[in-house]
Amino acid sequence: MASKKILVLPGDGIGAELMPHALQVMRAAVGDQADIEYEEHDFGGIAIDKYGTSMRNETLEKARSADAVLLGAVGGPKWDDLPVDQKPEKGLLGLRSGLECYANLRPAMTFAPLANASSLKHDLVSGLDILIVRELVGGIYFGEPRGVEVENNVRVGRNTLVYDETEISRIAKTAFQLAQKRNGKVCSVDKANVLEVTQLWRDVVIETHADYPDVELSHMYVDNAAMQLVRQPKQFDVIVTGNMFGDILSDVAAMLTGSLGMLPSASLNDRNQGIYEPVHGTAPDIAGLNIANPLAMILSMAMMLRFSLGLEQAADEVEAAVNKVLGQGLRTRDIHQDDPQNSTRLVSTDEMSAAVIDSLG
Ligand code: NAD
Repeated sequence: MASKKILVLPGDGIGAELMPHALQVMRAAVGDQADIEYEEHDFGGIAIDKYGTSMRNETLEKARSADAVLLGAVGGPKWDDLPVDQKPEKGLLGLRSGLECYANLRPAMTFAPLANASSLKHDLVSGLDILIVRELVGGIYFGEPRGVEVENNVRVGRNTLVYDETEISRIAKTAFQLAQKRNGKVCSVDKANVLEVTQLWRDVVIETHADYPDVELSHMYVDNAAMQLVRQPKQFDVIVTGNMFGDILSDVAAMLTGSLGMLPSASLNDRNQGIYEPVHGTAPDIAGLNIANPLAMILSMAMMLRFSLGLEQAADEVEAAVNKVLGQGLRTRDIHQDDPQNSTRLVSTDEMSAAVIDSLG
């Protein structure tokens, strides 16, 4: 039996509340297909309270030696007034850079029973399945020089958009390899008509593509991509792009699917280690009330099974179970809508998670 090690970081607020549900679903889905050993560490606000730092060195060491990290969410009002370099989010950035997770994967998938929850028309989003691959550790968010200075008595703000060809080719490879396991199409998004660095991006993506002749490659300027995502989103399979364009486009794509409580994410390095976490935060307004939607956390765990643990079948089963419970009409509050036909039922976090387990396999 395959043996895998994961580090579990529940974090704060609904992160800590939802993590036990994801682990229960994981145990039920994996069964005896693999032996998954896990260790749980405090991370984020709770670690600040206990140890004075959001991420201890031993947590990063454990993360480095694990196959994957499953993370809830961090932060909350209690820690909002701390200086930026002492906030819970500091641990998040440290973990991502400490593991060199440069590829951020954000699927935007519409579950058929929720197609009406999108702000777009039903037929535009039903069956939607896009994967946005965003470069996470380079580009304008990290480029130097940066800052605001006074020059000739005028304040000047400056950031630098910089990518070298190795950063571009590794994220392009990730996108091509993911497309090979999906519908075989990659659209690379840039602004090559205006920015030289993104002309380099386009050139390197084309060069890297030579090793993936089975994948169809297209290019799109970012302004057009934003428009096409809301005009005809189903034309896309995998979208690969830089850090800032990816930040914006992944939020647009996310909203095509309806709710923050449904969105998983993964950040991978080139050893296939990953950090798996829901897109949402700690939701202090609803934490502890047993009403949060556990599905984004559960779907993040499913991505972990697929991408870092090689347990594709268990991942498929979890996703099918989520589809099934939604098809049965179960809804947590965030995805519950007025329902004149009484075809849906408002459920708690516990009930939703138990229903997913009951629907497995
Ligand atoms: P949030 O995602 O926590 O909440 C936004 C809104 O969505 C809230 O009304 C919340 O109740 C709702 N919501 C979120 N997840 C839900 C779920 N699973 N089920 C039902 N409803 C859900 O964002 P925020 O309010 O801006 O941030 C709250 C805290 O979380 C802040 O401290 C912020 O810094 C932190 N945060 C952490 C991460 C992370 O750890 N990656 C990401 C975003 C925000």
